[in-house]
Parts: sequence; C-alpha cells; structure tokens
Amino acid sequence: MRFISTRGQAPSLSFSEAVATGLAPDGGLYLPESLPALTATDLACFEPLGYAELCFEFLRRFATDIPAAELRGIIDAAYAAFDRADVAPLIPLDAKTYVLELFHGPTLAFKDFALQVLGRLYERQCRLRRQPLNALGATSGDTGAAAIHGLQNAARTAVFILYPDGRVSPLQERQMACTGAGNVYALAVDGTFDHAQSALKEVFADQEFRVRHHLSAVNSINLARVLAQCVYYLYAWLRLPAAAKGNAEFVVPTGNFGNVLAGWMLQKMGVPIRGFRIATNQNDILYRLFTRGTYQVGDVHPSFAPSMDIQVASNFERFLYYSVGRDPARVREVMATFQRTGRYAFEHFDRDSFTASHCTDAEISQIIGRVYREHHYLIDPHTACGFKDLAPDRVNVVLATAHPAKFPDVIRNAIGLEPQHPSLEALKARPLVKHRIKGDPASVRAFVERHAAV
Ligand SMILES: *Cc1c(COP(=O)(O)O)cnc(C)c1O
Repeated sequence: MRFISTRGQAPSLSFSEAVATGLAPDGGLYLPESLPALTATDLACFEPLGYAELCFEFLRRFATDIPAAELRGIIDAAYAAFDRADVAPLIPLDAKTYVLELFHGPTLAFKDFALQVLGRLYERQCRLRRQPLNALGATSGDTGAAAIHGLQNAARTAVFILYPDGRVSPLQERQMACTGAGNVYALAVDGTFDHAQSALKEVFADQEFRVRHHLSAVNSINLARVLAQCVYYLYAWLRLPAAAKGNAEFVVPTGNFGNVLAGWMLQKMGVPIRGFRIATNQNDILYRLFTRGTYQVGDVHPSFAPSMDIQVASNFERFLYYSVGRDPARVREVMATFQRTGRYAFEHFDRDSFTASHCTDAEISQIIGRVYREHHYLIDPHTACGFKDLAPDRVNVVLATAHPAKFPDVIRNAIGLEPQHPSLEALKARPLVKHRIKGDPASVRAFVERHAAV
C-alpha cells in the first residue's frame, strides 16, 4: 500500500515513510492511495477479536512495509498500557444510547489510542535509520500529554512540548511535567497557545536546524493517528446488538475533525455505519460548515471543553480531498482560496452521512448534571457536547473522549462532586519538572540545541 498527498505534488510513500514525514512536502496530508474494502466476511472474522488483535488485522492492510510480527508487537505493547483489558469499553446507558469510553489510556483521553502506537512507530524508525528523533510540539493540553506518554523513555528520542504557562489545567500540566522520564521536556512559555505555536512554526521553517536535529512535529495530522482511530469505531460497531448495527450513529465531540474523519473513512471502507454527529462546543466552525455549507474562520473563545477550542480543523483537508472527487488540483484551489480569504463555500460534499450540533458552556454544565441524574453516569465536558440533541430515531454511540477526573472544576460546579482517578492522584505526589523559557524562536532553538537526543 502506498500513501499519497492530498495536494498531489509529492511522491507517494510507504506507510513508515509517510508516518515519519508527517506533513507532505507540498503542504498536503497523506492518505492511502485507495481505501481497502472490508467485506461482510471480513467483518464476521473480526467479530471475536480482542482490541489489539483487531487493531493488528486492520492496520496490517495499510502498514504493508512492516513485518507482521513487528507490527503485532508494537500494537500489543501500545494497548497493554491501557487500564482495561477491553481497552475501549462500550457502555449501554439505555436501549438507544451507548457510551464508548476512550479514556482508559495513560493520559485518560482518546489521543492515547493513536499516540501510544505513533510513539512506537517513531522509535522503530529511529532504530532502522540509525538516527535520533527530536519530537517538538505545542499543546493546549491533551495532545502534549499523550505525545509525552507515547515517547517517554524511547531510545535516542527526546520530546519537547511547549505550553502556555498557567493556561493549561493543573492536572494536564502534571501529566506533562511529572513523568520523571529523562527525555521529556515540558516547556512553559509566556503568552498564549498561539504564541507558542507560531514560535514552533519558525523553528520548523529553519531547514538547517530541522534536518540537523531530526525534528519531527507532534500534531494532529499524522497519518498513523487517523488510521489508529478507525479501529475503535470498528470495535464498537462489532459489539452492538445485531438489531442496532444498521441504525448506529456515532456522536463525536470534535474540534480538528480528526476523530470523526477516522469513523467516516471506515464507513467508506464498507462498514455499514448509519451516520455521524459532529458535536462541537461554542467554537463551531464545523457545525456551521455542516449546517450551512460555508467554512469560515472565527475567533477562538475559550470554553469548558478546551481540547475542542479550535479555529481551523486541520484534518478537514483529508475529507475535502474525497469531497472534490479525489482531485488534488481542486484541493489546492480550495485551500488557496481559504488561505487568502479565511472562507470557502462548498457546493457538494457528503452531507448525508453527517448531522451537527453545538454546545455552549452553560449547556455543558446542564448536560453533565442531567446525564448524571438520569443514568448515574459521569461525563467530562467534551463528552457532554455529544449529549446535546441525540437523534431519537437512531442508536446513538457517544464517544467519551476524556475521563471526567481531568476536569474537576467543571464537574464540581455542575454536580457538586469532584471525581477522582488514581493515576491523577498519584501525579500530585510526584515532583513537577518544568522549564520556563521565553516563547520566542531563538529561545526554543537554544533549548533544543542543549537537550536534543543525538
Ligand atoms: C483532542 C480532543 C478532542 C477533539 O479531537 P479532534 O481530533 O480535534 O476532533 C475532543 N475531546 C478531547 C478530550 C480531546 O483531547
């Protein structure tokens, strides 16, 4: 299997090469050159498999350049780090509502599903190329923590995560700064997430520096992230009662379009999922797109669901590629217009597969309270966005993207109780090691220069 860029001006790559490259050199995102078909026979064979086995059966159709035993080892190790044997439990709340718990990984948010695998793929690549790897990213919370936990203690690898000092939650900071791993650098910078992000962009633009230190970006557009995320949709769908399988709508709290894109690609491979709900918070660029057909950037307004406080849904370009009939010239045209004007009006795309909702902070609090009262089930603020206006004529599978204990303040305000989780409690007792640096490109470069893996 080869992987091609959405913009059509970069050579095709193997799975491992595409994963190691991240963003394609023409500015596009990598996609499989064709989507494999999953037949009814395949689905029947998948039915009895455990999570890691299923993940292997799925990913081996893409990662054709990795020997099977090695791929299996990577996947087994990745999901052994989860605190449930079933990895992604599907919890029925009532006959028409299920929750898919995606928070049993080391950082208690769904990003672990991809980053536990990605970290191990990076490590394999370093070994094969006999090169070090320095992973560099900016985070507003969950991505940085998940990347750190995917790469901590990996050989010849260092991970540098910039975050705005005082603007991530104390628990998120602890997840980044209390690992005790010698190759992890939590970099607290003055200013906002956007400042950190733009400093990073400049560091990556310095070609000589990037090549010399084997820098790799930690972000949400890596091919391996999307493919690893397909698996939990498949796993959940296989576990639904036969009568529900044809009428299932996956409800996806989303910001970057990364999570819901994975489910949609699985549907395109032939899994008969009925549809997807795009559930946004008050930052509702995707809601507006799917209800009105116009993609238009607005300002980011910080919300109770901070991991969805996003302006530009970076994974949207992959969906765009399929929507314009897999024509890279059209993708380039749309992206250029969007770059220039901050806006694009679409004529046609697969609207039939999607519904959309958006959720204010007041609604998030109210929904957390309602779900707790009605089902004795506690959800986090991101998951709460998914419980807005569930379709009464469908079987709804709501993706629970984070554990409620990550957001104790919002939960306490909503129901008067503070949820706990043993792994977060343990963090409170560990020393916090963070590095305060200025958030300008020169300071970031100087820090990496001193601490890079060689
Ligand atoms: C990252 C994140 C999201 C949004 O995921 P996208 O891939 O941007 O759609 C939702 N919830 C939580 C808890 C997250 O960490």
